[in-house]
Parts: sequence; structure tokens; C-alpha cells
Amino acid sequence: MEVLIVEDDDAMASALDAAVLSAGHRATRVSRGADALLVHRKFEVILLDLGLPDLDGLDVLRKLRQVTQCPILILTARDDERSVVLGLRSGADDYLVKPVKLVELLARIEAVTRRTGRSSANKHHSIVLGDLDVDLDRRVATVGSRVLPLTATEFDLLALLARHAGSVVTREQILDALWGDAFLASSRSLDVHLTGLRSKLQLPGFIINVRGVGYRIEADPA
Ligand code: CA
Repeated sequence: MEVLIVEDDDAMASALDAAVLSAGHRATRVSRGADALLVHRKFEVILLDLGLPDLDGLDVLRKLRQVTQCPILILTARDDERSVVLGLRSGADDYLVKPVKLVELLARIEAVTRRTGRSSANKHHSIVLGDLDVDLDRRVATVGSRVLPLTATEFDLLALLARHAGSVVTREQILDALWGDAFLASSRSLDVHLTGLRSKLQLPGFIINVRGVGYRIEADPA
């Protein structure tokens, strides 16, 4: 995988670079947000620091999200709930709080690889549920003629629920499917992705909460 490291701290950048290389990926480092916006197209995963010298990382994230579905992991020293939630709402697929455990970083990059790899390996169809069309090949979801601006994680969440339309998918199954390992999964992060997905769908009641169990999409929505 081609990994873009957006990090202004030299020591942090070399540690990340070494970790990414040790896992057999290739890494390129830039230290400014503006550079990230210029070069992002060549990369399959972006590791984004929030405290950058030229732009706020959250602004970089929002700008990237307007033009790419590439998985973006936030690396941040800001561990307060507000920053994390803002990051996820702005389109990050995951976040890591500094100091980052390198083993955990690699596991999260692998989780992202598995997800994107799986979706490109399984060449199949669209799932159509009422007005919703989930194109698994192109990773595009539409409601009628409206293309939903979903993040990679929101798309995976929607595709998972749509594949199991008519049955309940438990929170545990979702965390496991999207993050691969229970220890990587954050329940709060799932809630934020779910809220984002629902607001973009604009189909009230489409994703049904099954209290204490999980979520369900009707197999034959009205
Ligand atoms: Ca920084």
C-alpha cells in the first residue's frame, strides 16, 4: 500500500515511516496540509496529523473528503471527545491518539486494507432496496438520482446493513466487520459513523434501531 504521512514533527514522522515500511508498505511524508492536498491522489491510505503548521488538520480533512474516498486515519494529540467526534464527522475513517502505539497503527492500517481489498476482490453487483442503490463495485450509494457523499467507513456500514437487509446486525458484528478486531473497535466511533450515514441518507426510519441488539434495514422498504 502507498501510505501518505501528513506530519510536521520530524521524530514522529520518522517513527511512523519506519513502522509503515516494516509492515511492507511504502510511505511518503509531507509536513504541510497544502502539500497533502496536492499529492493525495497517489495514495491508498492517509495518516493525518491535526496540528499542522499551515492549515488546521480538520480543514485539510474536509477538503480531502470533498475530492476523495481514500481511507483517512487521524493522528492527534487532542484526545478530547469533541475533537475526535469532529474528526469522525468531518469524514475520518478512524483516529489514533498520540502517543500512537505502532502495533496498533499497523493493525488499523491492515483493517483498512482488508476492507478495501475485500471490496475490490468481490466483483459483484449492486444491492437495491427501495430507492437506495448500493453499488459494491464502484463503492457508490445513491438514493434516486442523489449520490450520497459517504466516507469509506459509512459506505462499508451501509453495505453491511444492506447485505443483511431483513435481519438484525448486532453492534458486535458491525464492529467486527468494519474494524476486524474487537480491540480496535470503538463503540463511540460507530455511533458517529452511523449518525453521519443517517444524515446523508435522509431516509428517516430506514435504519431501524433494535434496542439492545443492533440495527436492521427492511428487506422491502416502502
Ligand atoms: Ca503536529
